[in-house]
Amino acid sequence: MSVVEWETVVGLEVHCELETATKLFCGCRNAFGDEPNTNICPVCLGLPGSLPVLNRQAVEFAMRIGAALHCDVRPSIFHRKNYFYPDMPKDYQISQYDEPINVEGWLELPDGSRVGIERAHMEEDTGKTTHVGTSGRIHGADYALVDYNRAGVPLVEIVSKPDIRSAEQARAYVSELRAILLAVGVSDARMEEGSLRVDANVSVRHAGSDQYGTRCEVKNMNSLRSLGRAVDYEVARQVALLEAGERVVQETRHWDEDDGRTHSLRSKEEAFDYRYFPEPDLVPVAPSPDWVASVRAALPALPAERRVALASRAGVAPADVATVVSLGLDELVTSAIDAGADPRLALARAGNEVAADIERAPSLEAAAFARVLAMEGEGRLTATQSKQVLGELLASGGDPEEIARAHGFEAMGDDALVSVVDEVIVAHPAEADRLRGGESKLTGFFVGKVMAATAGKADGKAVTRLLRERLG
Ligand code: ZN
Ligand code: MN
Repeated sequence: MSVVEWETVVGLEVHCELETATKLFCGCRNAFGDEPNTNICPVCLGLPGSLPVLNRQAVEFAMRIGAALHCDVRPSIFHRKNYFYPDMPKDYQISQYDEPINVEGWLELPDGSRVGIERAHMEEDTGKTTHVGTSGRIHGADYALVDYNRAGVPLVEIVSKPDIRSAEQARAYVSELRAILLAVGVSDARMEEGSLRVDANVSVRHAGSDQYGTRCEVKNMNSLRSLGRAVDYEVARQVALLEAGERVVQETRHWDEDDGRTHSLRSKEEAFDYRYFPEPDLVPVAPSPDWVASVRAALPALPAERRVALASRAGVAPADVATVVSLGLDELVTSAIDAGADPRLALARAGNEVAADIERAPSLEAAAFARVLAMEGEGRLTATQSKQVLGELLASGGDPEEIARAHGFEAMGDDALVSVVDEVIVAHPAEADRLRGGESKLTGFFVGKVMAATAGKADGKAVTRLLRERLG
């Protein structure tokens, strides 16, 4: 057991691919999943004599991100960041260094905590190397293939301050950032496709200390779940080292999803290793104050604001609507509430059933969603039946009433239900006596019998109510 208490300190670097039509410095198509090496030209291949031309849409998207993160949006310049990788054709990456476009912002999480944003700068993506062989990694690979379609795709790298204090908060931060990126329409922000990539700088220190410990940068987390596991693992590793009287070595570590550990990748580079210098082929980026103002004015409502709006409409706490808002389902829920649906029921069905089939959620009509909730609220559909109707609506659309009819989910009226309940009571006199005598756990027994007798068509709540009426 620890003698001292340790505090987790995390800062996150998030790379976000922008959904522009073309790349950052050339007219090549910016698309995921195309035939390898088909969206390339002398500029993104770094051929001698080619010159970059900055994509205006990418600058606007970067400014949108800065504005949404409450940053100061400023004039900026590009630098060359020199390093040598086979998937980077120029052997340097055009990035921003000491004069980035966005600085000093913050982001608010659903629990009300704030994480500072150090900077959000523009840079180009590299190509992609595939190691062919059974290992799938560079060690033991037979050969490697390089696809330059991704080289030159516009990125914004969002660097947080080391304000994050737990794995859970790290996940909440990425989830919030993702919701913001989706809301401002700059990226599809898919961790599984690599359009949102998260690196975590993790260190620990004695609780209450104002000094930072030595940090490690953890890479290769492909989901929020991996991010949480990787931070927890890395914190435990560092605490164990320090408690054994050893030191944490500053380095870059690779998260291995299969064995649930981080492994040393290389000693951490310092800025001077990259020999940054100003990119001589590009002029400074100086957006006019009018342009910046128009970007700020055109921002849509952001998740934090939408949480407050939906929470007050639904009469719940903002944290209770976080999932629904981060999935962009708040309009659906609001229209259902407007149409008379029970707010909590609408939140529950949206946050579970609709969320489970989120790819199809855009095709779900608010009126149909509200109709299903109304049918459930009126007791015409049981919870199970309502979920089934909703599932079918998501899968193939249609009219909720017709779907329910097609399944034989016709309303089981109280009259029909009463006679089934009475039959079940008569068939189980001993259990009925015990329930009458106050053994309330037998309610479940009777509900189960009624469900079986009605092939699941009875509404559980109605059965419980009838049992109470009958057996006191
Ligand atoms: Zn190109
Ligand atoms: Mn970067």
